Amino acid sequence: MSHEERYPEPFLMRMRELLGDAEFAEFYDALQRPPVSAIRVNTLKISVERFKEISPFPLEPVPWCPEGFYIPNDVEPGKHPYHAAGLYYVQEPTAMAVGVVANPQPWEWVADLAAAPGGKATHLLALMEDKGFLLANDIDRRRLTVLAQNLERWGARVWVASNERIEHLHPNFPEVFDTVVVDAPCTGEGMFRRNRDVVDHWSPRAVRGNALRQEHLLDAAAPLVKPGGFLVYATCTFNPEENEAVVARFLRKHPEFTLEPVEDMPGASPGRPDWVDPELAKGIPLEHALRYWPHKVKGEGHFIALLVKEGYYRPRTPLTIPEPKRPKGMPRKVWNLYKQWCEETLTEMPRVAGVMLVGEHLYACPINPGRLQGLRILRPGLWLGTVKETYFIPDHALAMWLKPEQVKHRLDLTVDDPRVLAYLRGEQIDDPGPEVWVMITVEGYPLGWAKRVQGVLKNRYPKHLRWTW
Ligand code: SAM
Repeated sequence: MSHEERYPEPFLMRMRELLGDAEFAEFYDALQRPPVSAIRVNTLKISVERFKEISPFPLEPVPWCPEGFYIPNDVEPGKHPYHAAGLYYVQEPTAMAVGVVANPQPWEWVADLAAAPGGKATHLLALMEDKGFLLANDIDRRRLTVLAQNLERWGARVWVASNERIEHLHPNFPEVFDTVVVDAPCTGEGMFRRNRDVVDHWSPRAVRGNALRQEHLLDAAAPLVKPGGFLVYATCTFNPEENEAVVARFLRKHPEFTLEPVEDMPGASPGRPDWVDPELAKGIPLEHALRYWPHKVKGEGHFIALLVKEGYYRPRTPLTIPEPKRPKGMPRKVWNLYKQWCEETLTEMPRVAGVMLVGEHLYACPINPGRLQGLRILRPGLWLGTVKETYFIPDHALAMWLKPEQVKHRLDLTVDDPRVLAYLRGEQIDDPGPEVWVMITVEGYPLGWAKRVQGVLKNRYPKHLRWTW
């Protein structure tokens, strides 16, 4: 089969028209090469310097993201215990540019409106240093469940996962977010090298359909941005209909926004005003948008626009988290079971605000839970655990968020200890000692819980996460 047959002819023709013969040849050449692999280090858990020392793979820096590294194509980063410990996220390198452009600061309120499976959300939380609030929203419940697993493994606390249409969010969150990210569903031309399915779903009609949907999503996102706040629009597609044209239409309808230049983004090429209708582009500095091209950088390709809403920007102030105490309305019995478990297992009660009971589940909500009223919520905050009639069961998410030194009883394993694999496969481990909850760590990084009963660690690694390889 010749390569020309691998991509839809109308796609190739459009790209040739846009890029011109010489650049198209380079672009086309890049599309024939294999995709690159990369990981982004989780600075909530480990410094980049330390990760470089313990990395199981050779690392080559991604120029535009200080935490990003290319890794060889023949390794399986998802099958290493450090992945289970949340030390990194496997992410396409140009996708890392979105978090860098959004650049959220600690204590800010950030919304990632099309967030699943959580690549950008994990990046945003790391940059926020797990302080402030991230609303991670997605319309697809199944994908949102994967996002929750990814964010829990990441060990972050200050997020809520909602399962809403973007337009439903406005009454609860009117003009409150410092930064809103719309990493829009798109035709994914930048993913062609990675995913044959995306190629098969491409059509000129799909381009038009996605462009309409993207305009609609941006319209719904605009009223969530606070005055002086940022709206980041991103796609992983090349055509201007879903990129510059969407931004230009948005700006025509929303004169309260402007398109800002982004300084110091290595590898980025400018947006292309010349690729949209001159009437539409008139007066809009579309060259301020960023494009990443597979023939110019090592990566697949992304489009990013940084929009700023007019108005006086009021920065947020850091909050102090109060001493743990029973929240108003929480049944005394529930609080006491949780407290008793903390006293037996931890060096002190977790310093978290907003402890709340949903059914039998205890969460720590990073904002006033009243804000979530009426929304479909998958996780209202960090999942602390489940309260039964006479005891409390800690959740996996809590293990991933805690620092090992906060836990009294641990089984600290080195990465080559066969018990690491045994634990991740869901096996029990012999370990004499008192009957307590034990945190399992690998090289000092939490993997999850076990409960020691009669000299055996009963495995509490979640069944759906267990390794089958
Ligand atoms: N930001 C994600 C990441 O970095 O892992 C990738 C997001 S993907 C490009 C686009 C997402 O938009 C999909 O997960 C899809 O379910 C979601 N989506 C599509 N229509 C939506 C809508 N109307 N509201 C919210 N999310 C939507």
